[in-house]
Amino acid sequence: MAENQSNGNGSLKSYDAHVPEIKFTKLFINGEFVDSVKGRTLETIDPRNGQVTARVAEGDEEDVDLAVKAARQAFDHGPWPRLPGYQRGRIMSKFADLIEENIDELAALDTIDAGKLFGMGKAMDIPLAATCLRYYAGAADKIHGEVLKMSRELHGYTLREPVGVVGHIIPWNFPTTMFFVKVAPALAAGCTMIVKPAEQTPLSALFYAHLAKKAGVPDGVINVITGFGPTAGAAISSHMDIDMVSFTGSTEVGRMVMQAAATSNLKQVSLELGGKSPLIVFDDADLDTATDLALTGILFNKGEICVAGSRVYVQEGIYEEFEKKLVAKAKTWSVGDPFDPNVRQGPQVNKKQFEKILSYIEHGKREGATLLTGGERMGTEGYYIQPTIFTNVTEDNMIVKDEIFGPVMSLMKFKTVEEAIKRANDTRYGLAAGILTKNMDLANTVSRSIRAGIIWINCYFAFDNDCPYGGYKMSGFGRDLGLDALHKYLHVKSIVTPIYNSPWL
Ligand code: NAD
Repeated sequence: MAENQSNGNGSLKSYDAHVPEIKFTKLFINGEFVDSVKGRTLETIDPRNGQVTARVAEGDEEDVDLAVKAARQAFDHGPWPRLPGYQRGRIMSKFADLIEENIDELAALDTIDAGKLFGMGKAMDIPLAATCLRYYAGAADKIHGEVLKMSRELHGYTLREPVGVVGHIIPWNFPTTMFFVKVAPALAAGCTMIVKPAEQTPLSALFYAHLAKKAGVPDGVINVITGFGPTAGAAISSHMDIDMVSFTGSTEVGRMVMQAAATSNLKQVSLELGGKSPLIVFDDADLDTATDLALTGILFNKGEICVAGSRVYVQEGIYEEFEKKLVAKAKTWSVGDPFDPNVRQGPQVNKKQFEKILSYIEHGKREGATLLTGGERMGTEGYYIQPTIFTNVTEDNMIVKDEIFGPVMSLMKFKTVEEAIKRANDTRYGLAAGILTKNMDLANTVSRSIRAGIIWINCYFAFDNDCPYGGYKMSGFGRDLGLDALHKYLHVKSIVTPIYNSPWL
C-alpha cells in the first residue's frame, strides 16, 4: 500500500454526489428562520477543496438580543419549563426519531463543514446525538430534590429548578456532538436557550433547529444564532438577560467568556476547554493494541479533538519496538476525501487551522525534535496533513506544551512509574489521560495520581452518555454528559418551614 494512500499524489477523487442541498441558512429565532438584522452573511467553506459551499446569516449583538427576548419569554411565560418532565421527554424522543430519519444528510453537512469522515458521522456522531437526546429525555421526569435532616424542629427540602435562559457557545470540531451534549441536558432541565455554533460549522445546527420545531419543541425554547465569536459569541457571554453560559472551545476564549460573565450579570459559567492529554504505555502492554490505540488517540478526527492523546509516554523496555511499529502503521494510515469509505483521516477544518498545525510542525523541526514520519501537507488542494510523529522532545518543547489540535504526536520514553506520573501531570491542562498495562494495581494507582477529568485504562475515547467528562486545571470546569451535566442546568432551591408547635419559633 502506498504511504498515506488516497491523497498522496495531490489529486482528490470527487465525491460530489454526496454533497447535500443546503436547506437552512438563516438564523432561527422564536421558531422562525430569519435574516440577520443587518442582512449580513458569512461564507462556509468546504475544507476538502477550499470552495465556498453556502452563505449563512451572520448574526451579531442585535440578533442575539432578539433571540434572548424570545428565550426569556419562553422561559418566564412559556410552557417548556412548566411541562411535566415526561412530556418534555416525549418531545425530546420525537426529536431523536427525526434525527435518525435524516442521518445521511446530517452526516454529509458535517463532512462539508468540518471535513469529518462521512462514514463516522453516519455510524457515530449523528446516531449518538439521538441516543444523547433519549438519555436526557429519560431523565426529564426524574428531577427532584431531597428531604433534609434538619438539626432543629424544621421541615426542610430542596427543589431543583431550571437555571433559566442558557447561552451555548460551541466549537467546530464536533458540530453535532457539541450541539447535543449542551442542548439535550438543558432541554431536559426545562431551560430555554440560544445556541451559537462555530462560524466554520453552522450548517447542521440550523438543520437541528428545524427538526426541534418539527418535533414539537415550543417556539423560543431553542434559538440558533450563526455568527462570529467576537460579535455574536461575545454578545451572549455579556448579555444581562442570559442566566448561564455553557462554553466549549479554547482556553483563551474561555477566559474571555468568564471575564464577560463576571463584568455583566455574573451569570453562571461552565467551561470545557483545551487539552494536551498523555497516554502512558507500560512495558507489559500488548504492543499491537497499544500502537493502535496510540495512533487512533492522535489521528481520530484528524487530531481535532480536545482529548487527543498528543503526548505518548512509552516505558523504556518496549520503547524501540513500539516506535518501529507505530511509525510503520502511521505510514499506512489513509488520508483523503472524507466521503471515501477507505479513508481514515480527512482535511483539517480550515486554512487557518491547517496553517497553524504546519507552523507547529516547522517549530518542532526547528526545536531539534526528530521527525519520525509525516510533517508535510498532502496534495495540492484542501487542508490535508500527513500523520506526524516527533520524538526526542521534552515537556519544555512548544510542540509538547501547546495544544496543536492536529495529527501531530510527541512520542517520549520513560523509566519509572513515578517519572511517568510526574511528566504526565507536567502540563497546564487536565482533560483526559490513557493508561495501557495489564497490571490493574498499577493502572488504579496511576489513574488516581493524574490530575485530569477522565482516565481511560486499556482503551481511549471511551465516551458514554452516562459518563461525565470535563477539565481540571486550565481545561476548565463543569461537566458535559452524565447526570452531572443535567445538574449544571438546575438550581438547588431550599424550602424550610417550622414543624407545628415547635418550641424553637
Ligand atoms: P474557539 O475558542 O476559537 O471558539 C469556540 C467558540 O467560541 C466558537 O463558537 C467561537 O465563535 C466562539 N468565540 C470566539 N471568540 C469569542 C468571544 N470573544 N466571545 C464569545 N465566544 C467566542 O475554539 P475552536 O477553535 O472553535 O475549538 C477548538 C478548541 O475547543 C480547542 O482548544 C479544543 O480543545 C476545545 N474543545 C474543548 C472540548 C472540551 O470538551 N473540553 C471539546 C471540543 C473542543
